[in-house]
Amino acid sequence: MFDFLDLESELTDEERLIRDTAREFVDDRVRPTIGDHFENGTFPTDLIPEMGEMGFYAPNLDGYGSPNVSETAYGLLMRELEACDSGLRSMASVQGALVMYPIHTYGSDAQKEEWLPKLGNGEAVGCFGLTEPEHGSNPSAMETRAEADGDGYVLNGSKTWITNSPIADVAIVWARDNSAEDDPVRGFLVETDRDGVTTNEIDDKLSLRASITGEIGLNDVHVPEENVLPGVSGMKGPLSCLTQARFGIAWGAVGAARDCFETARAYAKDRDQFGGPIGRFQLQQRKLAEMGTQITLAQLLVTRLTELKTRDEMRPQHVSMAKRNNVRMARNQSRIAREMLGGNGITTDYSPMRHMANLETVYTYEGTHDIHTLVLGEEFTGIPVYSSR
Ligand SMILES: Cc1cc2nc3c(=O)[nH]c(=O)nc-3n(C[C@H](O)[C@H](O)[C@H](O)COP(=O)(O)OP(=O)(O)OC[C@H]3O[C@@H](n4cnc5c(N)ncnc54)[C@H](O)[C@@H]3O)c2cc1C
Repeated sequence: MFDFLDLESELTDEERLIRDTAREFVDDRVRPTIGDHFENGTFPTDLIPEMGEMGFYAPNLDGYGSPNVSETAYGLLMRELEACDSGLRSMASVQGALVMYPIHTYGSDAQKEEWLPKLGNGEAVGCFGLTEPEHGSNPSAMETRAEADGDGYVLNGSKTWITNSPIADVAIVWARDNSAEDDPVRGFLVETDRDGVTTNEIDDKLSLRASITGEIGLNDVHVPEENVLPGVSGMKGPLSCLTQARFGIAWGAVGAARDCFETARAYAKDRDQFGGPIGRFQLQQRKLAEMGTQITLAQLLVTRLTELKTRDEMRPQHVSMAKRNNVRMARNQSRIAREMLGGNGITTDYSPMRHMANLETVYTYEGTHDIHTLVLGEEFTGIPVYSSR
C-alpha cells in the first residue's frame, strides 16, 4: 500500500496487526459487496457484531472490554475502514467516538456497565443526536428540551441526519435542561423503544448511501434521572465527542484518498490508449504525482496530530485543521482519480466515484469545511466571527 515516506516502519507490532486485520476484514467481507450496498442504499448490518468482535468500536478506550490500543492503532483502523467506504468508517466512528466515548467519559458506573460491553461487541447499536432540522452548524441553538418530571425528565424535540438512528437501540440525545438555571445542554441516554420515540429513515441520499441515516422524533418521552449523563453539562459534552470523532475522520479521509490513488494508478498502468498504457502520458503522471504528494502530506498531518493526542496535548483547533485539510484533499483527489478512469470511473465497479459522493457528506458533517475555517480564523486572529450561545 502507498506509504511513500515509509511512515509505517515506525508502527509497533500491535499497530501493524490491527492495520492488517482491518484491511483483511474489509477486503474479504465488505469490498465484494460494497458497490451493491451503495447502489441499494443499505448497510451490511449483519457485519455489526463481527466488527464488534474484531474490536472496531472504540478500541482506544480503557476498560469495560475495550483493549485500550494506541491512538495510532485507532487512526489506522479508521483509515482502513474508510479505504473501503466512508459509511463503514462512519458506523465505527459513531458507535465508538460519539456513543461509547461520552458514556465512558461522562457516564455513571451503572451506565458504563450496562452499555459499554454490548456497544463494544456490537450486540447493541448507538446513535448521537445533536443536529436538528433548524440547527446544524450552530447546535447550541437547539430547541430540544428536557423538563424535570417526578423521578426523571420529559423530552420533546426532533433531531435529523442521525447516523444509525433507525437501527439504534440507544440514542445519546443532547437537549437543553429547562429545569436548571440557564438551561444547560445535557446528554440523555434514550432507549429507542421508549414511548414517544420515532426514528424514521432518510432514504433519498445521494452520498454515504452505504450508511443508515434517520431522524429522532421525541414526543413527551419520559426518561428516568439515571439516564442523564452525570459528568458533563453544557456544549462541552457534545463538542468533546465531536473532537474524538473528527480525529478519526482526519485519518479516515487518508484511507479514502489512498484507495482512489491505488485504483487510478493500477488503471493507468493497465488501460491502453494510442498503443500503450495511459500511465505513460505525462498528463496522467502529473495527476498521480499530485495525488501521491497530497496523500503523503495528509498522512504526515495526522501522524503529528496523533503524537499530540497521545501526549494529551491535542486541541480541538488542531483537529479542525486536520479534518478540514484531509477531507478537502480526499474530496479533490477522488475527483481526479475518477477522471483518470474515464467512462468506467462513473460506475460502482470502481471506487473513486463512490468515495467522491461519500466525501460530500464527510465534508459537511462533524463541522462543515466552512465552520472549521472559522475555527482556524479565530485561532490565528483571536477574533471570533460568529457567536454561539
Ligand atoms: C449523512 C449524514 C450523516 C450525519 N450524521 C449525523 C449524526 O450522526 N449526528 C448528528 O448530530 N448530526 C449528523 N449529521 C449532521 C451534520 O453534522 C450537519 O449536516 C452539519 O453540521 C451541517 O449542518 P446543516 O446540514 O444544518 O447545514 P447548515 O448549518 O445549515 O449550513 C449550510 C451551509 O452554510 C454554511 N454556514 C453555516 N454557518 C456559517 C457561518 N457562520 N459562516 C459561513 N458559512 C456558514 C455551512 O458551511 C454550509 O455550507 C449528518 C449529516 C449527514 C449529511
